[in-house]
Amino acid sequence: MKIAFIGLGNMGAPMARCLIAAGHEVVGFDPATTPDDIPCADSAAQAVTSAEVAITMLPNGDILRAVADEIHPAMDRGALHLDCSTVDVQSARDVAEAAEKAGLMAVDAPVSGGIGGATNGTLTFMAGGTQDAFTKVAPLFDIMGQKAVHCGDSGAGQAAKICNNMILGATMIATCEAFALADRLGLERQKMFDVVSTSSGYSWSMNAYCPAPGVGPESPADNNYAPGFAAALMLKDLKLSQQAAQAVGANTPMGAQAMEIYNEFVETYGKGGLDFSAILPHLATEGGT
Ligand code: NAD
Repeated sequence: MKIAFIGLGNMGAPMARCLIAAGHEVVGFDPATTPDDIPCADSAAQAVTSAEVAITMLPNGDILRAVADEIHPAMDRGALHLDCSTVDVQSARDVAEAAEKAGLMAVDAPVSGGIGGATNGTLTFMAGGTQDAFTKVAPLFDIMGQKAVHCGDSGAGQAAKICNNMILGATMIATCEAFALADRLGLERQKMFDVVSTSSGYSWSMNAYCPAPGVGPESPADNNYAPGFAAALMLKDLKLSQQAAQAVGANTPMGAQAMEIYNEFVETYGKGGLDFSAILPHLATEGGT
């Protein structure tokens, strides 16, 4: 299949490489980078010419809208725009509507699994769009990921993503708070991990991505909190979930608090480049008495 891949950053480039390794003909485009091992066009419009599927993996909804305006007219009718970026639900719905008007199919399919998942082809995709469109791109999900859930109509993938990451932000903070409290109570971190990871306080944040270095499976904490999943990206997702909550009148006080905490961490303390689990050393040193 001829596939265009627009946005070859930390996530896009390894995802494109998985498709190339599986035998697909990939043409990429990114204004900031031209990786040696991914054939690249001079523009997004050129990359999508005669492609069956155009994949976008971009920083935010505004850039997605601008790229969609550029690529939709250049795509063959019946081709499919698969957006894997994390963006606001409304942008996903608007871009899907624009695609439909241009005679294209569209799927929004943000991912979970980070750069490791993108590199190893083990992402989870949460997809929104018609059944026909989902069926068309399902083989690509199999290559780039280990699981794809068809969540509903356009925008449903983004809705699932921001709900998941709202849980993740809140549980990471709760896990970090508990470690910081345990420190002050004289409880060893290893004992804390051994108990909580097999008790009712367990979570992905504790068991798979432990914010305390030296305990549990290897995580960014063991690498001086190099991301991983940067706190700035977590803040982005928490802002998206609060924006969505406000738009539909949902009551999300824990999500709002998590957003405030990451906002302070990123904006006031300038720590957006650290992994989002670096809230632990932050809490352990700031704000206590
Ligand atoms: P990134 O900043 O590394 O990559 C984005 C790329 O988009 C950059 O290379 C940039 O040059 C390119 N770009 C910007 N404007 C463009 C344009 N007009 N045309 C073409 N390319 C353009 O970001 P990333 O980490 O790869 O994340 C991409 C998306 O995936 C984001 O929406 C992010 O929220 C989401 N995501 C990231 C992770 C992660 O762990 N990094 C995990 C899940 C989801």
